[in-house]
Amino acid sequence: MGRTVYIDGRFVPEEEAKVSVFDHGYLYGDGVFEGIRAYNGRVFKLTEHINRLYDSAKAIMLTIPMSKEDMEETVLETIRRNGLTDAYIRLVVSRGRGDLGLDPRKCQSATVVCIVDKIVLFPKELYDRGIKVMTVATRRNNVDSLSPRIKSLNYLNNILAKIEANLAGYPEVIMLNSEGYVVEGTGDNIFIVKGNKLITPPTYVGILEGITRAAVMQMAKEAGHDVREEVFTRHDVYTADECFFTGTAAELIPCIEVDGRTIGSGTPGPVTKALMNAFKRLTQETGTPIYRKTQEAAAI
Ligand code: PMP
Repeated sequence: MGRTVYIDGRFVPEEEAKVSVFDHGYLYGDGVFEGIRAYNGRVFKLTEHINRLYDSAKAIMLTIPMSKEDMEETVLETIRRNGLTDAYIRLVVSRGRGDLGLDPRKCQSATVVCIVDKIVLFPKELYDRGIKVMTVATRRNNVDSLSPRIKSLNYLNNILAKIEANLAGYPEVIMLNSEGYVVEGTGDNIFIVKGNKLITPPTYVGILEGITRAAVMQMAKEAGHDVREEVFTRHDVYTADECFFTGTAAELIPCIEVDGRTIGSGTPGPVTKALMNAFKRLTQETGTPIYRKTQEAAAI
């Protein structure tokens, strides 16, 4: 069955969900987006994703032509119309239809699209065994050129890194910033465990402030870990006890080898495994209900 897609106030079959070739999202990658996930009839961290979308839009001076409340409702309604309880949701707000020049002032109003689909995961065995990664030559965008904090439609930086990963046969890679500090993966944040410390790069080195990253930091603090946002290098990763990546699509995935160096024991470590379990519980038990009425009725 084909999907129902939301586009500019209408819910249409996916074949009819079309954007103009004059849309600056298409012509220039001028726009912002979010990747959100629903588990077990609830949307995980919906408000946080909507806030990040509006922050990204604000940074590029893009006016989203609807309120945050309406945007949340649009996400929920799109999932309902597709009859899903577990889903991957893609919200895209592009600059809209303009002329062939760069000037965003020529674009009358933003195009808003919401797509929901079933989620495709890394194979389960990668979560059980952990992934092997390498660092890539492509450096993450400089914060003063195009801040990685903006989740923009310009993902070529990440795609170039992904191409390096594909050529070398790795499922994910580590990106460094121009100074050589570890920043993140192509679509995930990175954590290392060293002794009793759980360390992830701070925002200012040039990362997307991941929503999964924030959830993991919170859970780890509650579990009594010493959680730090600190700059680190490849050397710190090679010599870490544990390493893992976090992201909406990947969730938490252990990393057991970096640039040919085995991390810790070469198997997913105890801190990583405990956080994976805690995250699973969090995603199953929290979030905005999609089918509010049905769930309320069921509770009576
Ligand atoms: N970094 C980048 C570059 C990403 O694209 C993503 C995925 N949105 C992440 C990190 C992880 O962020 P989140 O946990 O919010 O999905």
